[in-house]
Amino acid sequence: MSGSSKPPLIWLNIFIFLSSFIVATVVVPWYGITLGYGAEHLIWFVVAFSFCNLSITAGYHRLWSHKTFEAHWSLRLLFAIGGAFALQNSALHWSSDHRIHHKHVDNNDKDPYSAKRGFWFSHIGWMLREYNANTYTDYSNCRDLQKDKIVMWQHKYYVPLAIATNFGIPILLGAIYGDMIGMLLVVGVLRLVLSHHSTFFINSLAHIWGSQPYTDKNTARDNGVLAVFTFGEGYHNYHHIFENDYRNGIYWWQYDPTKWLIKSCSWLGLTKKLRVTPKLKIEKAKAKQALTTASKNVSSLPNAKLLNEALNKEFEELMVKMSDYYDVKKQMLEAKRADLTQKYERSLLKVRYQQMKSDLAAQRKSWEMLVAQYA
Ligand SMILES: [Zn+2]
Ligand SMILES: [Zn+2]
Repeated sequence: MSGSSKPPLIWLNIFIFLSSFIVATVVVPWYGITLGYGAEHLIWFVVAFSFCNLSITAGYHRLWSHKTFEAHWSLRLLFAIGGAFALQNSALHWSSDHRIHHKHVDNNDKDPYSAKRGFWFSHIGWMLREYNANTYTDYSNCRDLQKDKIVMWQHKYYVPLAIATNFGIPILLGAIYGDMIGMLLVVGVLRLVLSHHSTFFINSLAHIWGSQPYTDKNTARDNGVLAVFTFGEGYHNYHHIFENDYRNGIYWWQYDPTKWLIKSCSWLGLTKKLRVTPKLKIEKAKAKQALTTASKNVSSLPNAKLLNEALNKEFEELMVKMSDYYDVKKQMLEAKRADLTQKYERSLLKVRYQQMKSDLAAQRKSWEMLVAQYA
């Protein structure tokens, strides 16, 4: 951005964000205190909130922006409706912005919600002014999505879909339970505001608060707390380095319901071709980042040169053992699958595998102890 004059304000967005925020923080509690809510309000709030957020995380983000898996048309239709309900623009527009975000992350002139422009800008400020007016309808980075009929249908009818879902769903529930205002407040407004800000946190907080186990070349962070509010998108440091992975939280203990949804759908035949990053690549990235951090930290010590040499030597050793291990593991799996190899050869392979596995474990331990000293 050059010059001191800021681009014009987008009054429609300002009106939507501000009015919904005021209603959610003032009218929603007031109504609750004076008239009260029932269990049906809470249940439908959770259902609608999850529907919106998962449509964004699994649909807009991991399916359409990053193509990390393929989905049956029925699921894509659901995501398209849920995305309009979440009121975050069309999937085509969202994905186009998001692909630019990944390609030019932290570049204040190109990244549409660059975290380097501060919390406010990356959270919501970028949507309040016409920062990208001249490229607003340029979807040339999403030619693949333009072949998806559901994406194009949703893009064309985004406004009527957004209105129909945001008003229609709460009104329908209001008619069923006999509380029109209550449902409009909770399933309409409160759900929208919380869904908005929990998604926006991924652009703001997930680039500010957390650890960087895989890379420090961009601002993205891993944050388990944020993962809870964002349906698993809090593991953003991992996501920015391996964006083609359908998972964000790769370990079983990491909270990533978006991943669980995509995986469960694959058992039902609704999703397929789930892409994962090879373990070797992940481990290498992690070790490399640990080396970078440790090297930086020893550089100020009196025996920096020696320490650095030791670090690099240990790192090289680790890389070799890692490659060896994954290599023999692959061989073993192939042999098992093909079932061509002799029993004798297979048992030899197994012995080598066990050896390399324990070699790697020992090397990893000594590596971790070394870098822990300079972390
Ligand atoms: Zn992404
Ligand atoms: Zn990001």
